[in-house]
Amino acid sequence: MQACRHSRASREIDHELLWLLVSLGTVALAGLWFAARLPTPQCVFHSLTGLPCPTCGATRAAYQFLHGHFAASFFFNPLVFLAFCALLLFDLYACAILMTGAARFRFRFSAGEKLFLRALAIALLAGNWLYLLARSL
Ligand SMILES: [Zn+2]
Repeated sequence: MQACRHSRASREIDHELLWLLVSLGTVALAGLWFAARLPTPQCVFHSLTGLPCPTCGATRAAYQFLHGHFAASFFFNPLVFLAFCALLLFDLYACAILMTGAARFRFRFSAGEKLFLRALAIALLAGNWLYLLARSL
């Protein structure tokens, strides 16, 4: 893995701003959804099989995360909790970059590193699903 600093060109997409706005917009919509007490979406996989899918518990994890109950969020779906933590870190990074105008970080991966990261992602998804399946028994 090679990390480098990158100065954004004038016509280049501002990924930090774009994904920060997407993230904050999604959090705002989720907050409005919870505040309005709208019904939570039902999982089709769970309805059909009686077993949790890999993302079951994500809504409850989001609710707990947004209320600062991080242990409860982890309990409902550990991988989603980790994704929320990563998103929070990215948002803090993006805010810092946008406020200071500092150079952005970019990472470059070799082919072997990309393969490893894909295998790691599959292993994390599988492990998370096993956790959810074991918890539902
Ligand atoms: Zn599900």
